[in-house]
Amino acid sequence: MPNLNSPFYRALNEALAERGQDIDAICPADDSVARRVLHDYGAMFVGSKDILPPPVCVFTSEGEVTKFQEAAGWAGARVGSEVIELQPAAMTALLKARAAARAEGLDISPRDGAEGARRNYADTVRLWNSRFLPALDHWQSKGRLTAADTDRLRRLTVWQQVADVLELEKEGIFFSKDLSKSILYSIAAPGASQHIAMLAFDINEFCVERVRELLAEFGWFQTVLSDLPHFTFLGLRQDELRAHGLKCVDIASQQFWIPDVQ
Ligand SMILES: [Zn+2]
Repeated sequence: MPNLNSPFYRALNEALAERGQDIDAICPADDSVARRVLHDYGAMFVGSKDILPPPVCVFTSEGEVTKFQEAAGWAGARVGSEVIELQPAAMTALLKARAAARAEGLDISPRDGAEGARRNYADTVRLWNSRFLPALDHWQSKGRLTAADTDRLRRLTVWQQVADVLELEKEGIFFSKDLSKSILYSIAAPGASQHIAMLAFDINEFCVERVRELLAEFGWFQTVLSDLPHFTFLGLRQDELRAHGLKCVDIASQQFWIPDVQ
């Protein structure tokens, strides 16, 4: 059971109450996979009032995603050669951060084109398969999974695949792109991506400390542990993040603000 008295759960309760929602409705307590997703990607649920987080921690159909995205609204802008789409407040802040970066001779550009920003449900399923299917072949070739295992896994519904993958990862059978860590640090569980929420942007320049500083100044932070190119719009100042239930974890000298669920 998660600690409901932890800073994240207290902040989440408060944020949801203001929107007339409760935690069990957005993320059932008895669904451990959904809770894992909430703990890994949940920072967007405690962001500023200028953004609209999803009504559920996991979308299970394109129809639900479309309805949410239409309610939240989005703005498109050309960034370099790509047109990207984000929630309006996120876009305004991003364009300011980018202008500040360019004034200093730097840049902020989308990784993997338009897919670096808004994604639909089918995009997240396709990206899941881009990690899941090659990893099945790899672990079968290493003898860690049998042909019967991989056949069974391929035939599961996508959400059952997530549950089974997380179990296999407990035994060191990892599904990230480099097969060294959890798939959730490489790609979101289908339907749970912050990109569906239109509050995430993957950039090429994540290694440049000054770029990270500028993004943070405009409310954009790294909030998914080990997903280095991925930034989340929270619309908050860095000195407000702890009060919003997030804690800072340093990895590879980059700062990640993740839900403090302890
Ligand atoms: Zn991302």
